[in-house]
Amino acid sequence: MSEVNHYVDYRREGGIAFLSMCHAPVNTLSYELRCAIDHYLDVAEQDQEVKALVLRSELSAFSAGADISEFGTEKSFAEPSLPALCDRIDRFPKWVIAEVAGYALGGGLELALAADKRIATRGSKLGLPEVNLGILPGAGGTQRLPRLIAPSLAARMMCDGKPISSEQALDLGLVNALLASSEHSEAAIHQLLKECEAGTPDNMFEQDYSLSREEETALLEYQAQQARRWTGLKSPQAIIEAVQRGMKSSLEDALALERKLFNDCAASPQARALQHAFFAEKDALKVPGINRDDARLAIQEVAIIGSGLMGCGIAINFLLAGIPTRLLDVNSEALEKARAYIQKTIESGRDKGRISAQICEQAMAALSTASDYEDIANADLVIEAVFEDLTVKQSVFKELNRHCKAEAILASNTSTLDLNAIADVCARPENVIGLHFFSPANIMKLLEVVRTERTSEPVLATCLKLAKKINKVAVTVGVCYGFVGNRMVAPYSREAFRMVLEGASPSQVDSALREFGMAMGPIEMADMAGIDVGCMAALANQHEWQGEESYQALQFALREQGRLGQKTSAGVYRYDGGKKQEDPEVLALAKEIAQSQGIEQRNISKEEIIQRCIFSLANEGFRILEEGIALRSGDIDVIYLNGYGFPRWRGGPMQYADETGLQNVLQGLENLQKNLGAYGERWFAAAPLLKELAQANRSAKSFSNV
Ligand code: NAD
Repeated sequence: MSEVNHYVDYRREGGIAFLSMCHAPVNTLSYELRCAIDHYLDVAEQDQEVKALVLRSELSAFSAGADISEFGTEKSFAEPSLPALCDRIDRFPKWVIAEVAGYALGGGLELALAADKRIATRGSKLGLPEVNLGILPGAGGTQRLPRLIAPSLAARMMCDGKPISSEQALDLGLVNALLASSEHSEAAIHQLLKECEAGTPDNMFEQDYSLSREEETALLEYQAQQARRWTGLKSPQAIIEAVQRGMKSSLEDALALERKLFNDCAASPQARALQHAFFAEKDALKVPGINRDDARLAIQEVAIIGSGLMGCGIAINFLLAGIPTRLLDVNSEALEKARAYIQKTIESGRDKGRISAQICEQAMAALSTASDYEDIANADLVIEAVFEDLTVKQSVFKELNRHCKAEAILASNTSTLDLNAIADVCARPENVIGLHFFSPANIMKLLEVVRTERTSEPVLATCLKLAKKINKVAVTVGVCYGFVGNRMVAPYSREAFRMVLEGASPSQVDSALREFGMAMGPIEMADMAGIDVGCMAALANQHEWQGEESYQALQFALREQGRLGQKTSAGVYRYDGGKKQEDPEVLALAKEIAQSQGIEQRNISKEEIIQRCIFSLANEGFRILEEGIALRSGDIDVIYLNGYGFPRWRGGPMQYADETGLQNVLQGLENLQKNLGAYGERWFAAAPLLKELAQANRSAKSFSNV
């Protein structure tokens, strides 16, 4: 009895019983909370005085849904299971009103859907986000929601996975009344019960439902519209099936169908991958010894040195967060252009309805420019984004060291340079850190936070806290060439270009990887970034490939011809009228280079393309892990999911390796090493850590530097 009181507060006032969940912090529907709810349902059912039951929360949220930490454990389905609890509430012989405040998500909303009526406070959120974890609502949500609102809209809400506001829920008929605040609930409850007086409590099990022809057409049209976005995804398709077939069956049969579809999805590699991604993003925020609450400095003013492509994108993040930001550049024309570009970008966000007119105005008012370091002396954070040249960057940091206040954080956006060498020119190296944004910096979610040998803990904590404020997914990494993301992309791109020399067409390589799920193929990505940029990166990394002529030889030859990618309307592909086309001239050029280097051309299968690119990516990931540059394999995955268009439903390159089985990855690499001659010998040696884990039958996930 005392145990259940920890989870639920129960009291009766006249004929109404109030069952208030109080399982801090967010009423996850753990086994213990379910037992407590079930217990008080018994009490309310047996108490003759009780005419109606109000299911609510003592906390600021109604419920965040199932307890994800129970997933895969016996507790998850131990009785009373969540589906059983929802069924019981649906069949409950007395009126049940769910009072939603804060948010009702996933299982939390399913619980509310099983009640007879729902009231919600203004501003609360209701949603079924299971699709984001590769599953579907499994406690009746796929069946009760389309029985309450238009089935096609119910399917949209579940397939989108995004919560809706209580105001939208009222319009849809999902809630029966809105409250200005939870303090006004008593009157609304009495009003609802008054309206109910004449009837008997709803029981969906005993009612007839059907799917109208119009609704079925709307459902299937929606499915067809989403076909491209859902490529490779299992759970949205399962949701459509659950709604379409379920609405034509009794609730009992429909729930059995939901259970089957739920189990199929839950057991799929995709669900494992999406759940891995979810947890990996949470874990990436945990850095040993670093507590974001220890953030030392309030960042009230930011300065950005270099107002080029990256400087502008980075500035927009801070401006939209309402932080005054000053751009400094040696080139006054660049500063003028930057101001115009930032204004255009922010205003276009407003015109598309992504930001309010007020935020737009505030952001522009927060922007200023400077040409003198004296003007940025007060900045709390300075981010350098000048040319990728160590000497230039060191000269900037010497100026920062001279002019900035003692506690200012001095950050660099370098993609590849040695941050320790940059920190060396400062008298306060503990304040130096890498903040590696990705292009376009105002859109890409990823932020690699690069910790040098001497970066202080409070500086790191401040940057991690700040990342959240500007809505970035931050991953802490160590210093090495290219850090995590760009270092791994090197072998991935090397294989893509090498296979073109070996006889694959660029579009074959790109399509194979797109089919695998990548947002873009590696060759079209190189054209987009600029062939010259790729060549510069390869040159900067020369020590890796000296003596290996084939290394991106095609890129160097294209650069010679002035084919620099999309920006010159020709790179590996030709872009006539902006449309990408395979270019026979490039195929001939590749053949010529292959002949001159003694590379035999042949047919290359899709499987080989995927193995060579993705296994190379993961293999480099194992080296990075072994060197301690990344803390965990999940951190590497978070980087690839948020910065490189790796399909979330595959969980990232390291999760893909785990799912494939490390022994199979090792075997694949060893075969490539054997079959690709001297080239294979040179580039396909498996990382020692991969070998070690594979031999011990362990996963990448099981290894940690934490
Ligand atoms: P960019 O050429 O567009 O802009 C560089 C700006 O720095 C120019 O406006 C230039 O006038 C200014 N500048 C040069 N020297 C300066 C100095 N001493 N003091 C003040 N201003 C100076 O370059 P970008 O693409 O924005 O790249 C900037 C940095 O960001 C580089 O370190 C690059 O490696 C990194 N980066 C670039 C990308 C990308 O995709 N472009 C992605 C991540 C990181």
